Amino acid sequence: MPKHDLILLAMDASPTLDLMERALHASDYELATTHDHAGLDRIIQQSIPALMIIGEHLGGEDGFSISMDVLERFPTMPIILYSEKTGSDAAAKVIRAGVSGFLHPPLRINDIVEEVQRNLSRASKLGDWLRREVKRTTASLEQKAKISEAERGKLEAIISNIQDGVIVLDESHHILLANKIVQEIFNLNGAPIVGGYLKDIIPNADLSALIDRARNGALKYHEINFDDGRVFNAQYTPLPRIGSAVTMQDISYLKEIDRLKNDFIHTVSHDLRSPLTSILGYMELIGRSGPLNDSQQEFLGRLQASVQHMTSLVNDLLDLGRLESGFDTRRETVDLCNVMEYSLNVFDSQIKSKSLQVITEFSPNIKSLRANPIRIRQMIDNLVGNAIKYTPPNGRILLNIVMQENQIVLRVTDSGPGIPADEQTRIFDKFFRASNRPRDVEGSGLGLAIVKSIVESHQGRVWVESKVGVGSTFVVLLPAHD
Ligand code: ADP
Repeated sequence: MPKHDLILLAMDASPTLDLMERALHASDYELATTHDHAGLDRIIQQSIPALMIIGEHLGGEDGFSISMDVLERFPTMPIILYSEKTGSDAAAKVIRAGVSGFLHPPLRINDIVEEVQRNLSRASKLGDWLRREVKRTTASLEQKAKISEAERGKLEAIISNIQDGVIVLDESHHILLANKIVQEIFNLNGAPIVGGYLKDIIPNADLSALIDRARNGALKYHEINFDDGRVFNAQYTPLPRIGSAVTMQDISYLKEIDRLKNDFIHTVSHDLRSPLTSILGYMELIGRSGPLNDSQQEFLGRLQASVQHMTSLVNDLLDLGRLESGFDTRRETVDLCNVMEYSLNVFDSQIKSKSLQVITEFSPNIKSLRANPIRIRQMIDNLVGNAIKYTPPNGRILLNIVMQENQIVLRVTDSGPGIPADEQTRIFDKFFRASNRPRDVEGSGLGLAIVKSIVESHQGRVWVESKVGVGSTFVVLLPAHD
């Protein structure tokens, strides 16, 4: 028999209360008695009783609603309700209140003690079950914690052994994890970096630019250049609920190969230019040196077209070489809208012959650029030229220039064939031509590579938004000059 459990008797004074007190006392239970709601609350606060017997009425209040209130706060407390009434009404109220036992007249001492024991034993089983569940859940959490600790160890081992630099940042750009390659890349001499703010620990302009611009989705890759000639390709990956990761691969050797290849192309193009000029010159002379028959005239015309095509290819290659070597330092104040108007004048006959509808939308507040006017003209000629070249007759070209904060945004939109999604990232590569381009449209695949070089040498960005069968928009972002 349970001894010393505290039973709270919350009932109006009555012979039934006396009977209960006697019965439970005789069974060695500790008792606390109250005749009102406030007393009940006080006893519950001071010493949580093992069980409560509550009368249907308590100090003028409804015992059912007081029980519900107590169960809200102590959901596992066994409560026995005493009611003078029996029958379905009383039973329904007992069920609704959610109490665990019910006593009603006629009452015998045994009835009281047995109901109390039954309720206490049920409460103790419920307590055991709860403890078991808590233990089981805790064990499974501990297990999970152990697994994630092991996973973390594995992850750290992988990250510290890979040959790329890896930095994991939290959402406020504090370093959560960085491998030892990062130390080597930025010559940090073993200084502790975990926990520090990235820009304080690694004050590198290229890395900061990547982080700042990646945050608004504008950039995912960026080159990090060092004065000693090393170049790293840094890649930004957002990590949901963690922050972000920056990985860095050493691409210095690729850059060196690229430089050698560019030097080679530059030398060959340069050496080809003089013989091409003399071929063109002599072809002119052939025409003047005597009468030619129709076939000779036709062959000469074809030769001239081919040599001109070669000459423009060689000129493009030389241009690219110059741009990539960074020699283009000429800077003047340039009005982009004016350059666009000049360019459109030159293309006028082509626009008319294809019956294209060209719409210009220039915001009135466009600031000027600090740029090389010849290069800007070349960039616009290439973009507008492509739009005209690839848009079928009766198509539509929209030229839009707006300001966006301190950037000038140029959009060249056409209703041409569009560019397949998987080729859009390669469209600015040298010699790349899209697979769906019309076969009769001539080109070398260098125009957009030149556009990209020009834009980047002016600290801008260019990209394409395009849908096959709908059209393309080439977007150029250039910093305005204050
Ligand atoms: P190309 O001399 O071939 O025009 P570019 O470098 O200017 O070389 O362009 C590369 C390729 O991009 C083109 O061959 C073409 O497939 C595609 N392209 C460029 N501009 C457009 C455009 N406005 N509409 C559709 N495709 C385009």
